[in-house]
Amino acid sequence: MFKLNIVPINSWLNNSQKPLVIAGPCSAETEEQVIKTAKQIATKYDISALRAGIWKPRTRPNAFEGVGEEALKWLVKAGKEINKPVITEVANAQHVEKALKAGVDMLWLGARTTVNPFFVQEIADALDGINIPVLVKNPINPDVQLWIGALERLNKVGITKLAAVHRGFSSFEKSVYRNVPMWEIPIQLKSTFPELEIFCDPSHITGNASLIGEVCQQALNLGFSGLMIESHIDPANAKSDKEQQLTPSVLAEVLKSLTPKQVHSSNLQFQNKLEELRLKIDEVDNALLKKLAERIELVAEIGNYKKENDVAILQIERWQQILDSRENWGKLLDLHPEFVKLLLEVVHQESIKIQTAIMNNQVEVVDKK
Ligand code: PEP
Ligand code: MN
Repeated sequence: MFKLNIVPINSWLNNSQKPLVIAGPCSAETEEQVIKTAKQIATKYDISALRAGIWKPRTRPNAFEGVGEEALKWLVKAGKEINKPVITEVANAQHVEKALKAGVDMLWLGARTTVNPFFVQEIADALDGINIPVLVKNPINPDVQLWIGALERLNKVGITKLAAVHRGFSSFEKSVYRNVPMWEIPIQLKSTFPELEIFCDPSHITGNASLIGEVCQQALNLGFSGLMIESHIDPANAKSDKEQQLTPSVLAEVLKSLTPKQVHSSNLQFQNKLEELRLKIDEVDNALLKKLAERIELVAEIGNYKKENDVAILQIERWQQILDSRENWGKLLDLHPEFVKLLLEVVHQESIKIQTAIMNNQVEVVDKK
């Protein structure tokens, strides 16, 4: 596995106020709008960087696609006025070239770019030898490998000031969110690269200003390093993403209402109690695995028996009965039915795999258990 060669975030991003916040409008619309927004935000919170989209990836043509190159100087000027680094989205080599020429301090790759390794590689090649900070948003589809791959491509050309941005995932299923968070995916990324800092972008997750606070808090509860939040002086008249942008005052209120969480506590009493509870969890997990191993032995026995009697692996009515009964048993134990179902599906998949191996005489798979 490729390991990222990255430098600590505090060596390239001011982090005097926690949580780290990157804020600014979805899009740079006019010079006045960018500068006013920046100044209003800066009087209320010590942000780490000012964001604004210059080139906007829009689903349909004729939507506002960003002002383009001209707006780069507004962003850079706004950053100078509040003495903060500025960041924008780049989606191709020309964007990179123009942003660097204009003096943009940091870049981010959007969800629609991370999804395509050709685009990511093109951007990485354009950045070869230029160690500018780059933030990589997750791809629109829930594929952690694409996210990892984009980070690796950038790291390979020498970008060591890297961070990730979790902005949720596109989904067919109806949801209160514009992009479902699927928190397990950024957690998987963090487990792959523990040294990588992850920002949460509650604006694109929720698509809705009123839900931003709770998603911010959830991100902090999960140990995210920072937040990237869209803020506009006049959200109702924003040219893009108006429902999710917060005025600088509301942004400050949301940030003030958050309870920051530390990853560890130096309080000895807390540490001892935590250790005690974790030991109990270890014991329970061990017992769980022993029970699962016991179950797998029974599954193999049934597999052999079905094979001898030429009976198929799957009896759909039995599977349905398992799901229903376990859901009820789970309810009595206060377990969430969705959790019980997911757990059983994983266990069932393994059982089918084992019985398939038995049917196909791949005994070595069975012996391994
Ligand atoms: C944005 O940050 O304005 C943006 C377009 O984000 P995403 O790539 O997450 O959709
Ligand atoms: Mn946006």
